[in-house]
Amino acid sequence: MSRKFFVGGNWKCNGTQASIAELCSAWKESTDNGAKYEGKPVDIVIGAPTLFAMSTASLLPSGFAVSLQNCWTGGMGAYTGEIAAEMLKDAGIEWVITGHSERRTLMHENDEIVAEKTKYALSQGLSVIACIGEKLEEREAGETMNVNTRQLAAIAAQVEDWSRVVIAYEPVWAIGTGKVATPEQAQEVHASLRAWLSDNVSTEVAAATRIIYGGSVKPKNANDLASQADIDGFLVGGASLKPDFVEVIDAYNMK
Ligand code: PGA
Repeated sequence: MSRKFFVGGNWKCNGTQASIAELCSAWKESTDNGAKYEGKPVDIVIGAPTLFAMSTASLLPSGFAVSLQNCWTGGMGAYTGEIAAEMLKDAGIEWVITGHSERRTLMHENDEIVAEKTKYALSQGLSVIACIGEKLEEREAGETMNVNTRQLAAIAAQVEDWSRVVIAYEPVWAIGTGKVATPEQAQEVHASLRAWLSDNVSTEVAAATRIIYGGSVKPKNANDLASQADIDGFLVGGASLKPDFVEVIDAYNMK
């Protein structure tokens, strides 16, 4: 089954109104205001900082969607500083990232919290980029698949509609470090995750679900990674803050 290539940008806690306007206008220029990707087999979703998400939506090239990088585990109410999935829907934002390793580590979000956020976001009709990935010491201890399947299982237990879920495999040791996983290392994990989905969810879901790679993806390594059978796209941090991010999007041509 062919899976539509998916390229997510994750701006993290970066950007000003001026820098975002400048970046979006560079992308508009290099993509003919998005016409370059019209009808092409690639989804493009940009994870903007919450405060600037709505303005980003109005500045991006046509066809580029916006995601938030987080939302609350439940609905609206007395939760100072949080953002509810209902608010994303109301603002026309269809995507949210859950389980990013920075939130797992810095904000102490465990598997249960990630699963709860994913469940609530899906229940409100959002689509989710659900992140998993092992730390360096876990890889070195031979725990890579145990960690990834444990994190995936917690999320999978909450998912009914897999058409609105993209799994992002992001080895923590490759995030923001410049140490990209080799195409073979990433492919090995992606294939195992797909096998896990096949064994534990269904063969149809395993065949249809996009499993994207994240961790130091850049224009110079995107094509090699995209040429692997089970890599269905990317979640890109640092390189998504640059005009040449479009070269990462272009890696859909490798499929
Ligand atoms: P990076 O970040 O591309 O800067 O390594 C990826 C991510 O955290 O999603």
